[in-house]
Amino acid sequence: MLKEFKSLKTYFIENRIALILGLSSLLLVDFLQLFIPRIIKKSVDALTVGQASPGLLVRYALIIVGIAITMAIFRYIWRYLVFGHSRKVEEALRNRIYKHLQALSLSFYWKSKTGDLMARAVNDIDAVRMATGMGLVALTDGVVLGLATIGFMLYIDIKLTLISLLPTPLIIYFTRFITRRMGTGFNRVQQTFAELTESVREALAGIRVTKAYNRQSWEYSRVKEQGEKYIKNNLDLGRSLALFFPMMTLFTNLGLAIVIWIGGRLTILENITTGDFVAFISYLNLLTWPMMALGWVTNSIQRASASMRRINRVLDEVPEITNQITNPFRGVIKGEIGVRNLTFYYPEQGNPALKDIDLTIEAGHTVAIVGAVGSGKSTLLQTTPRLLETERGMVQIDGIPIHDIDLRNLRESIGFVTQETHILSDTILNNIIFGRQGIGNEIIKDVLEVSQLTCEIDSFPKGTHSLLGEKGITLSGGQRQRLTIARALISNPPILILDDALSQVDTSTEATILNRILEMRQGKTNIIVSHRPSTISRADIIYVLRAGRLVERGDHTTLLAARREYTRLYERQQLSEELER
Ligand code: ADP
Ligand code: MG
Repeated sequence: MLKEFKSLKTYFIENRIALILGLSSLLLVDFLQLFIPRIIKKSVDALTVGQASPGLLVRYALIIVGIAITMAIFRYIWRYLVFGHSRKVEEALRNRIYKHLQALSLSFYWKSKTGDLMARAVNDIDAVRMATGMGLVALTDGVVLGLATIGFMLYIDIKLTLISLLPTPLIIYFTRFITRRMGTGFNRVQQTFAELTESVREALAGIRVTKAYNRQSWEYSRVKEQGEKYIKNNLDLGRSLALFFPMMTLFTNLGLAIVIWIGGRLTILENITTGDFVAFISYLNLLTWPMMALGWVTNSIQRASASMRRINRVLDEVPEITNQITNPFRGVIKGEIGVRNLTFYYPEQGNPALKDIDLTIEAGHTVAIVGAVGSGKSTLLQTTPRLLETERGMVQIDGIPIHDIDLRNLRESIGFVTQETHILSDTILNNIIFGRQGIGNEIIKDVLEVSQLTCEIDSFPKGTHSLLGEKGITLSGGQRQRLTIARALISNPPILILDDALSQVDTSTEATILNRILEMRQGKTNIIVSHRPSTISRADIIYVLRAGRLVERGDHTTLLAARREYTRLYERQQLSEELER
């Protein structure tokens, strides 16, 4: 069970000074606590024998105040250090998981659910934090404070101690039972809370559709249902909690009753003094917490170990797509693309998405790829920046297999505008720069001009500093597409791929943008997927895909004259282009 925690070892070593100081403070507080009953004993004994002078009592009182102040200070110190340590573990673990998730390939994301990954990052990390913070404290207290208290009790009277300890197994067992129930209850509450948040988010995001279809009451009942589930789970959890403390005091009082009954007799028989008797009762009270801690900590460690097992499963996942040779190509890429016998299967698919594709795109050419929906255009494009993994040699750039090109260099050399436009809730400027360094204002102005965004952005109150998304402007589909094109153009990469990147822009704007791109990118390679005949016809070479196979290639006039697949596609699309006008 503990081997799951092995990957946390480095964090314990890193934080060792804080941990040692924190745990020493904890032990100091524990031992100071144990001395308070000793002082009580002394004062009570002095009082019963009639030897207590006001001066003596003041001295005892001052000692107790002194102990209390020292305890308060060191309790503050250990809480700060030990809980601080657990927060650091939490942070390091979260960053490590996120970094690892980023390195993992798309194929990992096909087989994992986002919700599960979110749960790793939230619930599981939390369980580990609990165990490394409070768990560590509870373990120390349970063992050290528990044994020491029992030691002090034995010192007073062995028989009385053994008898009074009779209910303690009940405390440990019952704590385990309740905390386990609380654990599952708590998970259920978190789970339903996530579902509730998600359904509210969905309902708000889809408010337009809800209104258009008059589905308000249906949406309302869906959210309400989730809310009811959430409350029910919370009440279940509350019931376990409500049971816990009354049961604990019951068990403690049971012990107390035994002590008063038997201990009282011992006092009368003068085996122990009145002061010892009172001190014994204090120790018995002190013992409740270590017993509860032992019950709690075993569960906490079990839960954390299950969480670590799930986290380790993600961390052990090996990124499929990485640099494969020790000295990958880091030089400048010119932009010739060669595809050799490329066949590609998506996992668990019987039919290949691409079959025996063979083509060469010369550096500086502009090519178009056409084909019906699902013919494999996007799949083909994604193999070039190794978003989808092919066999070594199937795809080459400047004659070098892409597997031998440094992955960072490869992806930086390709500007890829994907079908889906991913916009961050940030300013327009940050969405274009997208974390790149040293981008001058001139370049930004240029790419906004090329993407035909200048006029629109100037009309926004804050220009390029306007916020997008949740708290800002909602862009139209076409605006989003043009923005993502600006993002790709900014580094003027040797290869530019536009995968259906202008589908929501009107025909004349598309033509203007294309003109400007071709002008700006002379001598660089462009690969364009489009449905607009006016765009396609301008390519140097057009490749026609059908069901994953390359069925035709050539320039526009040749292909049109051949009167085959391309002519059919062209005529159909020309019709729709005319309808659009
Ligand atoms: P296009 O871009 O030409 O519309 P795609 O390259 O997106 O076509 O898809 C080609 C084929 O691969 C389609 O049959 C599609 O259903 C399939 N496909 C695409 N992505 C996946 C995936 N992640 N898993 C399984 N099949 C996929
Ligand atoms: Mg596509």
